Parts: sequence; C-alpha cells; structure tokens
Amino acid sequence: MPCDVMTEGTNDISMGYVKRLDAHEFDPLRGKKPLLSRIDIELTQRCNNNCIHCCINLPERDSGALSREMETGFVKGILTEAAALGCLAVRFTGGEPLLHKDFPELYLFTRRLGMQVILFTNARLITTELAELMAKVLPGRNVEVSVYGMNPESYAGVAGRQGAFYEFRRGVDLLLRYRIPFIVKGPKLQVLKGEREAFETWAESIPAMDKKPLFSMNFDLRYRRDDSAKNLRITKLRATPEETVSMLASDPQYQKEMGRFCTMFMGPPGDRIFNCGAGQSPCVDAYGHAHPCLPLRYVRTAVDLHKTTLGKALKDLFPAKTGMRATNPDYLRRCACCFLKGLCEQCPAKSWAEHGTLDTPVEYFCSVAHAKARYLGLLGEHEHGWEVVNWKERVAQDNKGSNQF
Ligand code: SF4
Ligand code: SF4
Repeated sequence: MPCDVMTEGTNDISMGYVKRLDAHEFDPLRGKKPLLSRIDIELTQRCNNNCIHCCINLPERDSGALSREMETGFVKGILTEAAALGCLAVRFTGGEPLLHKDFPELYLFTRRLGMQVILFTNARLITTELAELMAKVLPGRNVEVSVYGMNPESYAGVAGRQGAFYEFRRGVDLLLRYRIPFIVKGPKLQVLKGEREAFETWAESIPAMDKKPLFSMNFDLRYRRDDSAKNLRITKLRATPEETVSMLASDPQYQKEMGRFCTMFMGPPGDRIFNCGAGQSPCVDAYGHAHPCLPLRYVRTAVDLHKTTLGKALKDLFPAKTGMRATNPDYLRRCACCFLKGLCEQCPAKSWAEHGTLDTPVEYFCSVAHAKARYLGLLGEHEHGWEVVNWKERVAQDNKGSNQF
C-alpha cells in the first residue's frame, strides 16, 4: 500500500501501520543485542617507538614477530565474520598498527563491511596517502593519538627515538589538514613534568577534543610477562597512590564522570574470577589468537582462530573459559569480599600480568583503590575494603555529597 497511513493534516495513526516513537525509543535491533558489538585487533606487537612505560611492544624490526603475524587475508576473514556477528566497531591496535604493510587495505575493507574503525596510533606513520584515504572514507570514530612529549627532547626521553617528535607532529598536522577527527591522550611521567599545561592547551585547540585529555599513570606491567627488566622499570614509573589521588582531584569534571562510572560497580564480587565484560568484546592478537579482552594474554583463556571460529569462541569457548572460581585464599579473603571493586583496577588480566595467576590481589592497585576510597570518605584511615559491612550506606552517602570521583 502506498503512503496511505498518514497524510498531512489527518495525523491518523489508528490504522496500525504506523507507530509513533520518540527518538530514544527507536531500536533498530529490536532489543536483540548482537553477539559481538566491538572487536580489538592487534595488527602487530611491534612498534616504531620504545616507550619507557610500554606493556606490549617489541622492536619494529623483530623478524621473528613479523614472521608470525597474521596474513592480511586471515585478518579479512576475521573482519568478515565479525561483521556477520553484528559487530559495529573494530579497534586496530598494536604495537603500532600502522606498521602493518596492508593497513590501508584493511581499513577500507573494514569500512566497506559497515564497521567503524577506532585507530590507536602514535601518528608517526600517517602519510598524505593514508590521510587522503581516511578523509574520503572517514573512520566513523575518533582516531586516538598517544602523545609522548611536547618537544623533541621530552618525546625522545619517553619514546626512546630521536627525531620521532617531528614525525608525530607531521602525522597530527595531516589529520588536522584532512579534517580526520582525532583525540589525544598521554602518560603522566616524570620526564614530562611541566608539560601538562602546554599539552592541555594544545589539546583544547583540537576540534574533536570536547574534554581534557586523559593521562595514564597507573601503568600495567607487560601483558605477556615477557620482560622482567622492563617490568621493573614500569613499576618505578607508576604514580604513587597519593599522586593518583591528587591528579584525579585536580580535575573536577573527570572526577564527576569517573564517580558516576565507578559507583555502578561498587560491591563485593564474590568468588567468580571474571566479574566483567571479558569475552564479549574480544581481542585478536597479532598471531591469530582471540583473548577475552585486550590486556589478558593468558594461554588457557585464549582461543586459536586458526582452529575455530570467532562465533564459536563467543558462544561457547569464552563463557566456559571465564566461568572459573577463585581458589587463592588471599583473594577469597580480600577481593572476593571487597566493596571497592569500582575503584580498583585489580582484575584477572592485571593479576596475570603481575603474578602469572588470575586470582592474586595486586598490591599496587589495592593501595591505589584504598587511597581513592579514603579521599572520598568511604574508608577510615586504617580500614580495608573487605572489612566494611555497611558499604551500601557509605556509597549512597558519598553519592549525595560533592566529593566524588
Ligand atoms: S581488563 Fe580486566 S576487567 Fe577488563 S575485561 Fe579484561 S579481565 Fe575484565
Ligand atoms: S581494593 Fe584490594 S582487596 Fe579490594 S578488590 Fe582491589 S585489590 Fe582486591
């Protein structure tokens, strides 16, 4: 029947062909969640920087790593299956994903499948050709550029590469010139001390930056537990609990947003090890193994996509692999009963990186979470998160106050 349900002036919706919906009620998926909404793909573990705090990178010219990386056709197969499973966005990460020789081809392939691209990059390898391509076919999501210094010396001090600063700035200038939306973020490191203001002022001038840039400061250890010397260095670079609190307290807007987010997850998690979205937005590593999430590189929770499909991993394998219960007595005594979950970065992935098990409390993250909780008035000076019985009242009280993260 041609446009017969509503004609101008009649406004008749009684015939049952048309239902008037407010915009917020419109749900093209009709309440059915796709099996997969986002996937992370680590295109390479190699990087052209060698940042002092990095938890993943291998040298750019590591031929062993290069020879094991997924073939372009294999990545395309994963992308095709992801799209068929309902995936809406692909996050290309690394190492430095632009080191992948076929990145432009994979980018275009992803966009042709209708998925948005989130690109994590240091911007050093953005060329005019790539910028032209990305301007013609926009990624659909902001590119995320990591910034390691506001001048050549400080950048080299973090990234370990002389001259890299100029390449990073050229890459960023291309993004600006071709109007490709991007945001910037950076680490909080001693070598960058004194640059925060300059960084924030510069970030304000970037069109897609609608809030202050994020700073990482509670750095993760090596996801693959592959370099104890680097791990030692990373532990020395981490912000102390006190520095973390003072950094968060200096940004009221960030405090507020984090507060809203964190309080959603307060409460003791019990003995289930995975109390998170692990397995729902998986990460495929550079060698074709899918992991429940980006930082978790534990062989027993991984799935080899050379031997099975992404769909099978999502439907059967990840739910089985992430359903385990904690057995570590220290975890059961503390984390399982602790209401500070929403403020704490302790999780199976972090436990694996630090200790090689999934259920060992990470003392550093525990101290940071306790410092935040004390700042918020959720804990007394000598209290611990696992001892508090009336945590619901405390969280409710805190939500009413203004002193929140
Ligand atoms: S990073 Fe930790 S909390 Fe996040 S999904 Fe992975 S295991 Fe869960
Ligand atoms: S604050 Fe400590 S005890 Fe509580 S969840 Fe974090 S690591 Fe576990």
